[in-house]
Amino acid sequence: MTQTTIPARHGIATPLKAGQTIKVINTHGTQVIDTWAFELLPSSTSKISTQLSMQHTRATLCRTIPKPGDSLYNNKRQPVLTLTEDTTSGHHDTLIAACDAERYTELAGEDGKGHRNCADNLIEGLTALGIEPPQFTPSPLNLFMNIPIRADDQTSLSFEKPTSKEGEYVCLRAEVDCIVAFSACPQDILDINCGKPVDAHFEIF
Ligand SMILES: [Zn+2]
Repeated sequence: MTQTTIPARHGIATPLKAGQTIKVINTHGTQVIDTWAFELLPSSTSKISTQLSMQHTRATLCRTIPKPGDSLYNNKRQPVLTLTEDTTSGHHDTLIAACDAERYTELAGEDGKGHRNCADNLIEGLTALGIEPPQFTPSPLNLFMNIPIRADDQTSLSFEKPTSKEGEYVCLRAEVDCIVAFSACPQDILDINCGKPVDAHFEIF
């Protein structure tokens, strides 16, 4: 099976046909992969019609993290992807915005200027396919991202290292023709990528 690299700190996108499955592999176990999906307007190769929506997905599933068997919904409340397999312990995130230029300035001031970020990586991935990026960055499905909700008050969040191990993976089956985009998150200030962003991989079958 052909594996495609999601290069450390970069973005990549790929078309996925209805019925195809994409296997997202956390090759080193330590890397968060921001994940988006878009449908295109009928007969268009460049214009987006819908986007995968974490807020609509949470409302339908009544949980914050999807499990195998759960579908993931777009902003029209239609299923786009279904999580069919997850060999991790199930720690992913749907709450945290993609990192962006402003986030690195917030975290590191002047030193954060010019830092690679997932919002720009989404644009990088889509434009490489000739697709016009959305005006605003949709909230991503943050695969392998470990954001526990504190048990004491059930409202506080923290940014932790992934719990996944080398080679663990998630499989997503397309329910419709769509474009899936990934960013190997370049966050190296917080612990979420264990301080060292690395490559991950995907396979389509
Ligand atoms: Zn990021």
